[in-house]
Amino acid sequence: KTLLFVFGTRPETIKMAPLILKAKQDSRFKVLVCSTGQHREMIKPLFDFFGITPDFDLDLMKPGQSLTDISMGVMTGVHRILQESKIDAVLIQGDTSSCFVGSLVSFYHRVPVMHIEAGLRSGDIYSPYPEEFNRKATGLVAHTHFAPTETAKENLLSEQYPDRDIFVTGNTGIDALFEVRRKLCEDVALKTQFDRDYSFLHTDKKLVLVTVHRRESFGLPMEEVMRGLMELSKQDDIELLIPLHMNPQVRKSAEKIFGAQAQWVDKGVPPRSGETKIWLCEPVDYVPFVYLMNRAHLIITDSGGVQEEAPSLGKPILVAREKTERPEAIAAGTSKLIPLEHKAFLNTALEVLRDPSIYRNMSEAKNPFGDGTSSEKILSLVAERI
Ligand code: UDP
Repeated sequence: KTLLFVFGTRPETIKMAPLILKAKQDSRFKVLVCSTGQHREMIKPLFDFFGITPDFDLDLMKPGQSLTDISMGVMTGVHRILQESKIDAVLIQGDTSSCFVGSLVSFYHRVPVMHIEAGLRSGDIYSPYPEEFNRKATGLVAHTHFAPTETAKENLLSEQYPDRDIFVTGNTGIDALFEVRRKLCEDVALKTQFDRDYSFLHTDKKLVLVTVHRRESFGLPMEEVMRGLMELSKQDDIELLIPLHMNPQVRKSAEKIFGAQAQWVDKGVPPRSGETKIWLCEPVDYVPFVYLMNRAHLIITDSGGVQEEAPSLGKPILVAREKTERPEAIAAGTSKLIPLEHKAFLNTALEVLRDPSIYRNMSEAKNPFGDGTSSEKILSLVAERI
């Protein structure tokens, strides 16, 4: 059977890679990969690391591109592939435009759509951002729903999807994470290289790794988070590393709040002073990012993928959002929401850092998102259902 994988952003690529690699080794499948190119720069190192070469590259990302432009590109591109090749199932992941439009075109072609990471819900379809619509609309045309957790399955059942089409498989992002962790353990040269790249970090301080990029937080909420981080950096035993998202809104807020208190670092550039407590850098490739998560004492993030991954590395997470479509992590005790107001933000961070029992409970809680075997489960189910 021929499987077509359609995706284009960084998180999709990370979560699809283990499936693609496993499917390629599986004699039941012929694999075709279509990259839409939605995050062109960020996914190239991922393709290199996992050794994946796309069979189709739609190369959609152009400066000033709108969601409509991207959607039209995915529509035409995937339509052409489905016209020219006989495909038995299309696999799509998550909640992006590549995911939704890819699934819609496959549905029009009457090719079964297999939705990986199905059933996440924020409950707010009218938010200014398309993710909730994309995931719900993908569900409507999906033939099979691979829910990462029981909660995601419950969401689908409550929307009247039949039980027989929903499978709880865990999240393939954990499979990818384990693959990288294995590589970091085995490849001493790689680990030494990262130790060297990040030698500006003080080994006697606790590293707080931070990523914030959600559009819903742009402006005041993000500035409050950054004010909270400034306060946090005054603690003697702590330093912060913040890979800064490329979006100019994030950079503008960082410049405004951190100013000269933060120091930009990038590979090979020696830091200016030993006093810096806030390090800023360009977004980090996935493999060094896993290295940094592993090295961190605490992670503060608004990223979905990071909330899923960090518990497998035993790292407590503070989620800088008002709500999360991953409530399983909060329920399992691996993460907590942190208020978007700088004083309350600081108090919550200090509570986790200073209370050993809270810290230990969070770092020892079981990861509700998977155990590294999701790809295997999904591929067995795909084989059964097409
Ligand atoms: N990530 C990365 N470098 C970074 C920040 C995140 O490689 O500087 C990885 C992270 O480990 C996770 C994925 O990117 O696997 C999450 O992507 P993102 O936060 O962009 O999207 P989300 O998960 O929120 O959709």
